[in-house]
Amino acid sequence: MNWPPQYPGDFTPKPDQKYWSPELETMPPSDRDRHILAKLQHQVHYVFRNSGFYQEFYKDVPVDPANLKTLEEFAQLPILTKEDIRREQVEHPPYGRFLCIEPEDIFRLHGTSGTTGRPTVFGIGKDDWDRIGEAHARILWGAGLRRDDTVMVAAVFSLYVGSWGALVGAERLGATSFPFGSGAPGQTERAVEWATMVKPTVLYGTPSYALYLAETARQMGVDPKEDFGFRFMYFSGEPGASVPATRRLIEETFGCYIVDQGTMAEMTPWMSASGCRHLDGGMHLWQDIVYTEMVDPHSKLNLPLGEEGVPVYSHTERTSQPMIRYWSGDIARWDMVDCPCGRTYPTLVAGIYGRVDDMIIVRGQNVFPSRIEDVLRGLVEFGGEFRLVLERGTGQMDRLTVQAEVLNKAFTSQEFDPAALESVRERFTAELRRAIGVSVAVELKPAGEFERTQFKARRIIDLRKP
Ligand SMILES: [Zn+2]
Repeated sequence: MNWPPQYPGDFTPKPDQKYWSPELETMPPSDRDRHILAKLQHQVHYVFRNSGFYQEFYKDVPVDPANLKTLEEFAQLPILTKEDIRREQVEHPPYGRFLCIEPEDIFRLHGTSGTTGRPTVFGIGKDDWDRIGEAHARILWGAGLRRDDTVMVAAVFSLYVGSWGALVGAERLGATSFPFGSGAPGQTERAVEWATMVKPTVLYGTPSYALYLAETARQMGVDPKEDFGFRFMYFSGEPGASVPATRRLIEETFGCYIVDQGTMAEMTPWMSASGCRHLDGGMHLWQDIVYTEMVDPHSKLNLPLGEEGVPVYSHTERTSQPMIRYWSGDIARWDMVDCPCGRTYPTLVAGIYGRVDDMIIVRGQNVFPSRIEDVLRGLVEFGGEFRLVLERGTGQMDRLTVQAEVLNKAFTSQEFDPAALESVRERFTAELRRAIGVSVAVELKPAGEFERTQFKARRIIDLRKP
């Protein structure tokens, strides 16, 4: 095996071809395991030789990192966490000893914003950036992107690698790229004007942004289905694209199909978890690009298909700043599904539906905000936004209040009057109890009460004392 792989930069399939790489995408899973093992052997050998961090990290492991024999041996390497990266980058700024190329050979510098702690830094070499473009082009091909499409990237162009990753895939595939951005004052109104004028066929952003764009369009007298020309949308950054009711809402609002995508910025090519043209919610794991294991959140041991756990990701063709067995902190369930696309990858059947840290435990029951979103969006009176307020009740029991907007048409009086909405509130309460298995309090709010987000929605308000 030639490692790292070199891909011809000018290849694209014929437009009617289903797969970018028929061999890699449809091989029997046991053959794929052999292929992945060969790539990981090279990858781990490479970091062990070139990265001071991994040399130290793997000092006492029970296997030989320079000569792994099986995927089971690979699974005995320690799991890497965000904390490990932060600590390493504090001690050896700015990249930590992860960097396996010379600093002057870094082509792109990205990172996380550090909203939950010290920012982390990623140095990406040119060869790696090209391979990221190749991987994303291949996956977007599976999502249905073709050269005659125009892709509007409506997300912030900054440190955030999501937008750039969405862009480089479209560029490599040869589609027309429209890097619109988002986040500046008035920019969503301009997005409505531009989308009406140049009629891009594809949108990249977050599910929250798509809903916000539709709301803004309607306020401007523009019909998102009639006046735009979106054929499909691909999303990352939030669970919404695999939340059934949110998915239906976006598809009906724009008259298009949507594809859920995304692992983590650190793991770019982050599209290695991605739906396809046919998958109705959920994401295939394109295992030969980034290898995903599912592990138990407590024991950290590998889980078989069918189980719910935490995805752990490994680069398989990264030379600049490789991440091996990186703990995502997300919660998902994986299984084999019989997708009409014919790919033989395992699938995160309901996408990534929560974070280990966001999991709310109410009276012993695990509750994910994405599940609550699904219930609310299925109710006709729901006004579009919600918040979850967590408080510590008596006896250290956590109490959850769902604050949900209701549409104006749900009440007949001029003013918002919670007393007149008692029957609506009771129905919201009953539906939530039925879906999540425990009672929660519901407070209704007028539509527009909560701020609309153009990026990742923050819907949990945690009032519990630490
Ligand atoms: Zn599929």
